[in-house]
Amino acid sequence: MNIERFRVEPSASVDLAEIPTLWRPSSLDDLADEDARRQLRKRVAKRTNELDSLQERLHAEGRHRVLVVLQAIDTGGKDGTIRNVFGPLDAQGVRVASFKVPTEPERAHDYLWRVHAQAPGSGEITVFNRSHYEDVLVVRVHELVEERRWKRRYRHIRDFERLLCDEGTTIVKFFLHISADEQARRLQDRLDSPDKRWKFALGDLEERKRWNDYRAAFEDMLRETSTRRAPWYVVPADDKAARDLIVSEVLVRTLRRLNPQFPEPEDALPTTIDAATPIDGTADAQIPQPSSPLIAPSRNEPTRSNPVP
Ligand code: AMP
Ligand code: MG
Repeated sequence: MNIERFRVEPSASVDLAEIPTLWRPSSLDDLADEDARRQLRKRVAKRTNELDSLQERLHAEGRHRVLVVLQAIDTGGKDGTIRNVFGPLDAQGVRVASFKVPTEPERAHDYLWRVHAQAPGSGEITVFNRSHYEDVLVVRVHELVEERRWKRRYRHIRDFERLLCDEGTTIVKFFLHISADEQARRLQDRLDSPDKRWKFALGDLEERKRWNDYRAAFEDMLRETSTRRAPWYVVPADDKAARDLIVSEVLVRTLRRLNPQFPEPEDALPTTIDAATPIDGTADAQIPQPSSPLIAPSRNEPTRSNPVP
């Protein structure tokens, strides 16, 4: 699959109306819809399998940090992408950070403060469900700060992401691209399905009215902030399986490039475990004495899974 076609070149102007929201690999052209979908799901499963083993190495090696940014219009499929692409991975090495309307303490700081705190640690993959980009999207569309101020943020964001990259973080950003018709279908579906109704917010209809304003904000975001090291991919997302395939393929390529390796085992490891190996010297030592604590005191040392910033 040629993923380059989805990548936004640095400074390239983007006309989202020109980019299809629906895509299928051409090899599936001749298949009926149901068969094509089944094929797509199979391919996604292959990618997530490979992602799983790459992620295991990444976690074991504890060297690289990977940041995945997901942005989309409401109902664009961020949650579904997280479920389908990251759900099959080991929960130990993957973390999702969701960015909502800023809380009081968050609003008391600069807009990148809460974001930087969620950046991935060594060996970790962090998925941003929404991100600092809201600060040039919803904030712009609703005029929450004046234009002069949000316009400067493109530069802050480029610099911020460059800082992360310079310090060892790999960044990939996905814009899930759906059509207005597809959004209408998905909103209707949320109204109709009892298990999806909770997701329906009246605000979503108000937001839909601002479709064109969001379009303009996304286009500027893509042009201003797609860089060589932190590229945006515009993912045709009307078809959920095709969307998952593109996202998982880009991630597989990204992790393959990092080529994470299991660390070398300690020197002179024994080849067998001798059941007769005495545990801590004497049998007595295994029985906790009434005065000794049953739980070892915690050591305040940073560990790989709990790095101290
Ligand atoms: P959801 O993703 O559906 O749970 O909704 C989260 C809401 O938080 C969305 O309506 C976002 O637009 C909003 N949000 C996220 N970040 C910001 C921000 N920096 N400023 C204002 N609203 C935000
Ligand atoms: Mg919502």
